[in-house]
Amino acid sequence: MNATEIRLASRPHGVPTLENFEIADVEIPTPGEGEILVRNQVLSVDPYMRGRMSDAKSYAEPYEVGKVMHGGAVGEVLESTVDGFEPGDIVLHGLGWRSHAVVAAKHAVKVDPEAAPISAYLGVLGMTGLTAYAGLLDVAEFKEGDTVFVSGAAGAVGSVVGQLAKLKGAKRVIGSAGTDDKVKWLTDELGFDAAFNYKDAPVIEQLRAAAPEGIDVYFDNVGGDHLEAAIDSINLHGRMAICGMISVYNNTEPAAAPRNLASIIAKRFTMRGMLVGDHFALQPQFVKEVAPLVAAGELKYSETIVDGIRNAPQAFLDLLGGANTGKMLVRV
Ligand code: NDP
Repeated sequence: MNATEIRLASRPHGVPTLENFEIADVEIPTPGEGEILVRNQVLSVDPYMRGRMSDAKSYAEPYEVGKVMHGGAVGEVLESTVDGFEPGDIVLHGLGWRSHAVVAAKHAVKVDPEAAPISAYLGVLGMTGLTAYAGLLDVAEFKEGDTVFVSGAAGAVGSVVGQLAKLKGAKRVIGSAGTDDKVKWLTDELGFDAAFNYKDAPVIEQLRAAAPEGIDVYFDNVGGDHLEAAIDSINLHGRMAICGMISVYNNTEPAAAPRNLASIIAKRFTMRGMLVGDHFALQPQFVKEVAPLVAAGELKYSETIVDGIRNAPQAFLDLLGGANTGKMLVRV
């Protein structure tokens, strides 16, 4: 039996295409000392991978052309040379888009398949959930009674941000998303107070209408016109967690700055960039608090699951195009 891996074939210029990826069939690798062989079951598909496909200097190492697309993955241990890891154990690791991975045991984290579906460890109980938790509570310093606006609200991070804010006593939570079905999901299923389709009319106008008394917190997943709208609506001493700017990831030229940034002086709001890696110390607290909410159905999550590792490149292109509701995943 062979293993399959997805490699970066070439660096995209602008919007990526399927030609930027190579699907390779290889032999199943053998674990050495201190290693385990994992058969991956679910792969994570994430916007930050777009940055790693380029070779511009960034916070994450660029992928090497001809090498596997690294990223989050969960799978079953098939062979182990390491005490504490047995065949049948389920582990989380970062070796990404391959059907089989030889993982140094020190870089594998055992997860409990009884406590939650294993896919949840890549999303709501994993990296994207922690991003939402740390960004809202630590970076944006959310407090009860705040009005919160989150862009990319129907995505993996955004959907958790909005629900957490509601559960923690936000006065009003507003989300933006790119389809009417997503907007309906936010208000009808997730309990957002208001949501709008950013493609319907200028974001600045839609946010003003949705937040007549302004916003205290902005959780940015999008940048661009959403950031300008948030600056326009933010109240005195408001706080912004700048988590992502997906609207500029495919740009080939630097994006324009928010044109209304000068109002930061009069409004004295803060903008703080964030990287989830700086907040790993919060992981135990996050799991302790959020896992019971998920188990009780108080914090809902959605997954868009694409079948087949060979479809991972298309799943990634679809993620950038907005085909996902909640976390985008590939079932190997
Ligand atoms: P999502 O699940 O939100 O998927 C991406 C979504 O972005 C798409 O579904 C699409 O939804 C939306 N989108 C795509 N292009 C645009 C555009 N031009 N304008 C507005 N929306 C767009 O991904 P994640 O939840 O995994 O990530 C959300 C953001 O958080 C990303 O920017 C990501 O880079 C960032 N991030 C940052 C981390 C950090 O440590 N700083 C960690 C994890 C994520 P729609 O239909 O609504 O357009």
